[in-house]
Amino acid sequence: MSENCSHNCSECAKGCGANEKGSLLKSLPAGARVKKVIAVVSGKGGVGKSSVCALLAAMSAKKGYKTALLDADVTGPSLPKMFGVNEKATANERGIVPVETKSGIQTMSMNLLLENESDPVLWRGALIAGAAVQFWTDVLWRDVELMFVDMPPGTGDVPLSVFQSLPLAGVVVVSTPQDLVRMIVEKALNMAKKMNIPVLGLVENMSYAVCPCCSARLEIFGQSKAAAVANEFGISAVARLPIDPDLVALADGGRVEEYASTEPLESVFRAIEEV
Ligand code: ADP
Repeated sequence: MSENCSHNCSECAKGCGANEKGSLLKSLPAGARVKKVIAVVSGKGGVGKSSVCALLAAMSAKKGYKTALLDADVTGPSLPKMFGVNEKATANERGIVPVETKSGIQTMSMNLLLENESDPVLWRGALIAGAAVQFWTDVLWRDVELMFVDMPPGTGDVPLSVFQSLPLAGVVVVSTPQDLVRMIVEKALNMAKKMNIPVLGLVENMSYAVCPCCSARLEIFGQSKAAAVANEFGISAVARLPIDPDLVALADGGRVEEYASTEPLESVFRAIEEV
């Protein structure tokens, strides 16, 4: 299978069988192209998974990659707000056209389809999972080099469908120090392992705060467990992101692309580039 395989066998003459009978991988619509897909996952909600996903995508666009964001968190979509994307997605006879953020990141999210952002998605699991997968099969992604998928938290229906249907190159696991309890993270890690998808990096978010007076690192949620967990699970790229009110202010103001302190995520980004 070529490095650039999009599993869209209808467009390729190689006949490698990447999407042959038996595989649950879904094809992109005709004309859409995505080179590499990375999923950002967490064991539970509220740990900063969407924020980290947004920051990785913003870094990717800044580095010059044609970047996309697929918001598979269908019932809790937060990416459009973080990027200040208000316009609705449009469609033509070939599929749905993704909306671009200020720095040109192609984005698809349930909130770009709902009439009102605050409308709840009152659907059962199978429908929600179907919608997440349709963001792959029905969206006209334009020559994307790096796509980041914001997964719903946990290991339920939707993550399982996305894991099975999209050609993921790897996952990045986001956690917080108190959430880095073995069992929760282990479930997310084991899901990736069972699906044969490499875990490229572990991000311990809200890992510490920096004292504004003396610059000391305060481990508010307890001692970091990132290195120990990464070591145990053989994950080489580890990042520790501090609690940072600037990140909240920019995300709440729809300007997450302007967040400059992404240096701690560089090692995880390199692992994404190298896979
Ligand atoms: P999840 O996707 O895991 O539910 P979010 O990314 O939506 O989490 O983050 C939950 C809340 O925590 C948001 O208000 C977000 O702005 C805030 N947050 C995330 N990361 C940080 C951080 N490093 N410092 C401060 N606040 C953060």
